[in-house]
Amino acid sequence: MDSVPKAHSHVRNLLSNAPVESVVRVTGIVSSRPPGQENPKMPTGDIEVKAETAEVLNFCKKLPFEIKDFIKKSEALRMQYRYLDLRSSQLQYNLRLRSQVVMRMREYLCNHHGFVDVETPTLFKRTPGGAKEFLVPSREAGKFYSLPQSPQQFKQLLMIGGLDRYFQVARCYRDEGSRPDRQPEFTQIDIEMSFVDQAGIQRLIEGLLQYSWPEERGPVMTPFPSMTYDEALADYGTDKPDTRFGMKIVDISDTLRRLDVGFVQNVLSYPHGTAKAICIPQGARYLKNKDLESLKEAAKSQFKQEIMDVICRPDGSLKSLLTRFLGEEQQSELIRVLNMQVDDVVLLAVGDHKRVCSALGSLRLESADLLEAAGMVLRDPAALHFLWVVDFPLFLPKEENPSELESAHHPFTAPHPLDTNLLYSDPTKVRSQHYDLVLNGSEIGGGSIRIHNAEQQRFVLEKVLKEDSEVLSHLLEALEFGAPPHGGIALGLDRLISLIVGSPSIRDVIAFPKSFKGRDLMGNAPDYVTPEELEPYHIHVSWPAAETEAKKN
Ligand code: ASP
Repeated sequence: MDSVPKAHSHVRNLLSNAPVESVVRVTGIVSSRPPGQENPKMPTGDIEVKAETAEVLNFCKKLPFEIKDFIKKSEALRMQYRYLDLRSSQLQYNLRLRSQVVMRMREYLCNHHGFVDVETPTLFKRTPGGAKEFLVPSREAGKFYSLPQSPQQFKQLLMIGGLDRYFQVARCYRDEGSRPDRQPEFTQIDIEMSFVDQAGIQRLIEGLLQYSWPEERGPVMTPFPSMTYDEALADYGTDKPDTRFGMKIVDISDTLRRLDVGFVQNVLSYPHGTAKAICIPQGARYLKNKDLESLKEAAKSQFKQEIMDVICRPDGSLKSLLTRFLGEEQQSELIRVLNMQVDDVVLLAVGDHKRVCSALGSLRLESADLLEAAGMVLRDPAALHFLWVVDFPLFLPKEENPSELESAHHPFTAPHPLDTNLLYSDPTKVRSQHYDLVLNGSEIGGGSIRIHNAEQQRFVLEKVLKEDSEVLSHLLEALEFGAPPHGGIALGLDRLISLIVGSPSIRDVIAFPKSFKGRDLMGNAPDYVTPEELEPYHIHVSWPAAETEAKKN
């Protein structure tokens, strides 16, 4: 210690006393580290600085949590001090990678393919079916702007305006209340083209993803496979199938049709009546009884669907409440159709096609999670299973009132060319030119070829969807001025990046995300404003009594 010159001991004291995360300025001589002492894990690991002077530019006060990635901290605390959490190497990596991907996308679209980056307004007006839009008060009494769910109308208007290849990193807003892993504001890579068909958009997006995908997570193989909506529903019980593993839904109606059970016969006699099953490989070894019970319970509570289980015993015989109704021949047929092996568990459902498929599709995913939690290797974490889902129905019955129809995508989606006539006779049967892009079971994009004929657009809005077309009169009128055929797509950037970095939540790829309840926990938004501030907007808040009390305190 005595041999250390005074200046050096001052530097040492200063640096060792400065709290972690303080900002210091050190001057000195940069030299190579002694041989063998290099640290290949650090970008600056080959050198060191022989410090001569040091100065603390800013002390860091006691941290609310340690920045190190491996230290678990509550998400609420991380969000409250988001600027500190951003210092973690994980968030640094995620945000830098996000920026690189977006830069490559810009390059591909604008430099290689002649797209034009156009900003569209975020203060607009309510659109049909826009119940999920945020309202913004205006100074005109009773009038409100809406924050658009997407630039849909503007991108179509840009095509009419002759900007035949549009793209935008677009901020979108949806007031969906608290839904896990949804954000009230989120970002889309929004694209529209004139004189394009479905295949044209699909090839563009495949090229775009291939070009912008980070090398260390690639390669992206194109073209992506494609599946119709009907196939996706029948085989996977969802319109966003995770095709990284099997366990597909199998139709066993023919096998069960001969079963002497009144209820089964009755269901199968209806037009949409069906019997289907999934086979969980090695389910008897990997799943506990309580797992099976909770799977069945979930189907009942979420889908109102009863599930029966069938277990293949070590001697190859079947154990199930059902077996006493099944003859030997039917049992072997079931084993064969479902390709059952010893210790496999089959979950079986009888009922309406859509409900049975949806319930089994959900059980398929839940049982995959359970198998993996118990140690089975089912899905390769590095695998990239892109999938186009196509031929969606143009309209679906409204959930709250099935006798009315709503658009499966949005009201501007064009009918399938082969089904256009059905639009006027039986709209429920019309397929659409809507396509979704799915990656490993998550929807990462969706789009459609649009209606470019004003009359057809008016018919869809007024006669099929029973919407007031007046709010869209500007778009309907624009379609009458020589609108070119056009179509487009939007990719959900947050979800896409979270899949690339392997993060379970989109909050991990957004610099300043909102909480589960849509709040900014750092700045405390949304916040109260005074009655005086509300006056120019002609708004008066009528407070529920409890909140008046809470506000006073
Ligand atoms: N605007 C649509 C959406 O946000 C995407 C599209 O049709 O291009 O889902």
